[in-house]
Amino acid sequence: MTPILPGSTIGILGNGQLGRMTTQAAIRMGYSVACYGPDAAPTPCGQAGAREVQGAYDDLDALSEFARSVDVMTFEFENVSTAATAVASEHIPVHPAGAVLHTTQDRIREKAALVDAGIPVAQYSVVHQPSDLDGAAYPGILKTAQTGYDGKGQKLVHNATEAAAAFTSLGGVPCVLEALVPFLWEGSIVGARNAAGDVALYPLVQNIHTNHILDTTLVPAPLASTELQASAAALAERILDSLDVIGVMCIEMFITTDGIIVNELAPRPHNSGHWTIEGAVTSQFEQHVRAVCGLPLGSTELRAPAAAMANLLGDCWPEPDFVGALA
Ligand code: AMP
Repeated sequence: MTPILPGSTIGILGNGQLGRMTTQAAIRMGYSVACYGPDAAPTPCGQAGAREVQGAYDDLDALSEFARSVDVMTFEFENVSTAATAVASEHIPVHPAGAVLHTTQDRIREKAALVDAGIPVAQYSVVHQPSDLDGAAYPGILKTAQTGYDGKGQKLVHNATEAAAAFTSLGGVPCVLEALVPFLWEGSIVGARNAAGDVALYPLVQNIHTNHILDTTLVPAPLASTELQASAAALAERILDSLDVIGVMCIEMFITTDGIIVNELAPRPHNSGHWTIEGAVTSQFEQHVRAVCGLPLGSTELRAPAAAMANLLGDCWPEPDFVGALA
């Protein structure tokens, strides 16, 4: 891939907080940024200096026009249709590719891809109709295949009767029923891969959730041995390679007494990587820009022995205590 150099314009689909931080990194590196999404200006991306284009994610004409106004396109919002990414890629490189988004936006496709790549996942069954719930492993978590996040679109079920009720209350849409994993703790690896196939990984971190929302990230994961760090890194690299990811991806993992089970993938910068802004030589946002622009990846070394991320939203809804936090 010919490098897309500073002075060029990076297009971002989505205009929220992840796009804002990507915009900040890109502008500091000398790029211009344009963002596209349904929200009216000012958006978080626009406030950080991106040109804002308001449009629907399914307006293919508007997306095509947007694509023609930028040099490369990436995402901060990944629930974009294959038709939308296909229209954009008629004009410019789109990273990560539409195929990666297509896989990761559906738990059934994502799990199948992980299994194909030889990655350990929780025991699961695909549920299209109530009869698929018979003979499944219980207790389990019934999750809608699409559009679930932060614990939404999922229910803990103890037997087939509860699962049938949950399937109905989730709307009767395609689901996966996952066996409950007796994890010791939850972690993630944020990593990047560029078009040359180079991979750079941040360390395995520990994630602590409150009310299903990521509350605290500890870096590196305090309970991870050198061996566990190495096996998490090997799994992450295999996933990035097998999906042919270009850009940053977060791999969420359950750490069990028997090893690592991969929970889910996010094909973009992730909350559990925000600590990299101050805590690593290269932030996940700069790394994402480097990867999608075909540049060498930056060092993922920590700038201090340890780092952490605390999510003010989780503690202080509706208003974070900014004064207290700064003090
Ligand atoms: P997810 O939306 O898949 O990331 O799930 C949200 C949270 O629910 C995870 O971070 C875990 O705390 C919990 N969870 C999800 N799936 C499982 C599982 N199979 N076993 C145990 N806990 C789970």
